[in-house]
Amino acid sequence: MAASDSRRSQRDFEGNRSIPNGEEERNVRDTGVQTDTRVQGHGPRLSKANLFTLLSLWMELFPKKEPQQRENDTARDTGLVVVHERRVLGLHCSSVHLHAGQVAVVKHGPRLKECDLYFSRKPCSTCLKMLINAGVSRISYWPGDAEISLLSGKHDHNDSSHQEAIFDATAAERLKSNSRPHICVLLQPLDCTMQQFVDETSQKCDFLGKIATDNPTLNVKDLFRREWWNNLDDFLEKLFINDEEQHKYVLNKMGLDNFCAEPNFSNLRQHMRNLIRILASAAASVPVLEENYGFFMTEPLGTGSPALPQDVVRHCIIQARLLACRTEDPKVGVGAVIWAEGKQSQCDGTGQLYLVGCGYNAYPVGSQYAEYPQMDHKQEERQNRKYRYILHAEQNAITFRSAEIKEEENTMLFVTKCPCDECVPLIGCAGIKQIYTTDLDSKKVKNDISYLRFDKLKGVQKFIWQQKSSARHISEQAAPPTANGYMKRKEEETHFQCNKRLRS
Ligand SMILES: [Zn+2]
Ligand SMILES: [Zn+2]
Repeated sequence: MAASDSRRSQRDFEGNRSIPNGEEERNVRDTGVQTDTRVQGHGPRLSKANLFTLLSLWMELFPKKEPQQRENDTARDTGLVVVHERRVLGLHCSSVHLHAGQVAVVKHGPRLKECDLYFSRKPCSTCLKMLINAGVSRISYWPGDAEISLLSGKHDHNDSSHQEAIFDATAAERLKSNSRPHICVLLQPLDCTMQQFVDETSQKCDFLGKIATDNPTLNVKDLFRREWWNNLDDFLEKLFINDEEQHKYVLNKMGLDNFCAEPNFSNLRQHMRNLIRILASAAASVPVLEENYGFFMTEPLGTGSPALPQDVVRHCIIQARLLACRTEDPKVGVGAVIWAEGKQSQCDGTGQLYLVGCGYNAYPVGSQYAEYPQMDHKQEERQNRKYRYILHAEQNAITFRSAEIKEEENTMLFVTKCPCDECVPLIGCAGIKQIYTTDLDSKKVKNDISYLRFDKLKGVQKFIWQQKSSARHISEQAAPPTANGYMKRKEEETHFQCNKRLRS
């Protein structure tokens, strides 16, 4: 059965890698109330540790405003996920002025006590000392190049930035070994079917479904594969150290020398690659199609806020796609993220955006295996079907929000599937001002679940994934593409010229 298999493979992995930071099994295993094997027959689930790690890597790649000279140019962009009691409190990335850890201190202050932090790189000593001081419970980081890059200037012996990086790594090591919070690498082995599951659900998701509906002759599978390969090349370059000797050098300097011996080293690198592949797959579900597809308004609404730039919208939707990889629904995974545009100064790499909440569809928290029906419409009479028991992604995002929704701010919902009739009134009344989603199911009744009310929802700006030409006259009036001053990333502009990389 899946349960014992996944547990066994975790033990094997731990045995092999002789966890360098003494990470105990209770931490390594996913001990939440929603265990990974509770719902019979559904696909594998991402563990929370892997989900948070993936979100931190993805936050590192948050589309930035026009690039400016960093005040500390040896620091690399870093993503950060702040988790309190296993729920996401904040998604951050470093900015021109602040490192990601500094952003967390400024944004959360004393609320960091007892939080778990997931970094996309090992944080520098400046960040570490403040976070330890704030009383965080655990700091986990991706074992690639450190925040103060150990690789830049490595080959120039007189390079002062490289000397600084080594001093910083030594200080970070001392902070790590003397600190109360647990500072570690927390990578859990993936279920062997996870990649296949994410690939399949990414290809079946409504964003590619919409493109397939509009273009019946287009091979969407090819489109997905091309995007996947482009993403993989891009992400490996940014998040992985290709040269093994360089990687060993970095691990040694960061005090992770246990990872340098075989088979730990190969296992570590394989696991890092596997996670990057999952990220490439989730990102390929919302392809970058130059100007052709994006999230555009279907009807003009007089006085709403301007739309976010398309690359920022896509980033947030892919956050939701990653969350959907933890679904408990046997058939359809849905993820939702709520962000708001605050009035405060822009210390975070996300600009004025801050996270309000996020969620995925799942059975009620605390429920046990088989406590509720898991059958869909084909298998059981109506009273025994799952739909009355599963919480929708939007419902979880609203319930477990980490910030209040403010009337005077633009609060935005990003969701990977059209909101159903159960969720539409919640969204309207919660004070959401903008929705970014797909309307592939809108106006449909699908067995136990209906989507008739979304179309009639008033007072909320709806930005729907569609071809630009079908919405151009409205989107150009209402949604200037540089409304928030974000710049389109260069790689996205050139993305679709990469036919040469169409591999089998
Ligand atoms: Zn730092
Ligand atoms: Zn719903």
